[in-house]
Amino acid sequence: MSYDLDHVEMECPCPCGKGRIVYGSGTNDWNQIREGMEEIWCPECNKKFKIVSDGLLPKDFPEYKGDAEAGNKMSHLSDIINNYRGGIGVRYWGKELRDKRKHLYLTDEEIKADEDSKHNDNWYMAIGFSKNLADKYTLEELKDAQKQMNHCKASTQLEGIAQEIAIHHKHYYKTIKLSNVIVPVNMAVRNYQHYKDADREDEEYISSLKEELKNVKAIYYKDFEEYEENRKKHLISYKLQDVKR
Ligand SMILES: [Zn+2]
Repeated sequence: MSYDLDHVEMECPCPCGKGRIVYGSGTNDWNQIREGMEEIWCPECNKKFKIVSDGLLPKDFPEYKGDAEAGNKMSHLSDIINNYRGGIGVRYWGKELRDKRKHLYLTDEEIKADEDSKHNDNWYMAIGFSKNLADKYTLEELKDAQKQMNHCKASTQLEGIAQEIAIHHKHYYKTIKLSNVIVPVNMAVRNYQHYKDADREDEEYISSLKEELKNVKAIYYKDFEEYEENRKKHLISYKLQDVKR
């Protein structure tokens, strides 16, 4: 739904001098308000110019367009970098690394159980939970929790971090049964060093992608200065003034 700029806060003359450039807020048919609207209130100038962040440009003045291939690569790389949320990361790393880490983290039995189950990515969830434990606690703390869980008969007897983990497990998996709670703890203890190695590996991978992105950006923006110089020549600056009341 379109907004009508009906409350002018600032204005100045348009380039031809017959009208104005105005800035203010607008309302739509539902009385919703939009702040920060800017319009050219002159039929002639409105036909000729468009408003950009630092002035007016001829309506048909093109946007900057860099090398198309570099542009595609840029958005692909940014996608991977921005979607990386830490953790085990394997979702975005392609099949090879995904399989490598799956076999590193899981026992043959767990892999078989996972492949037999119809739920895709069960293993990913289990590893994710145990990886969170490894992120949050030291190996010693996890070993202590593991020891408690091996010696207690019920999770109500757990104390300290072991109890904390059990509560977290209940929140996540809806069960606090000791034989269930201990599974990710065992996994976290077993994989502790692997998780730390994976973090470092991922970090290196991400920074290599960032480096690549920097290079691709340089290619994409290689004519930008020239474009900018030409753009400035066509740019018409103006200065809005507060409307006197
Ligand atoms: Zn005008």
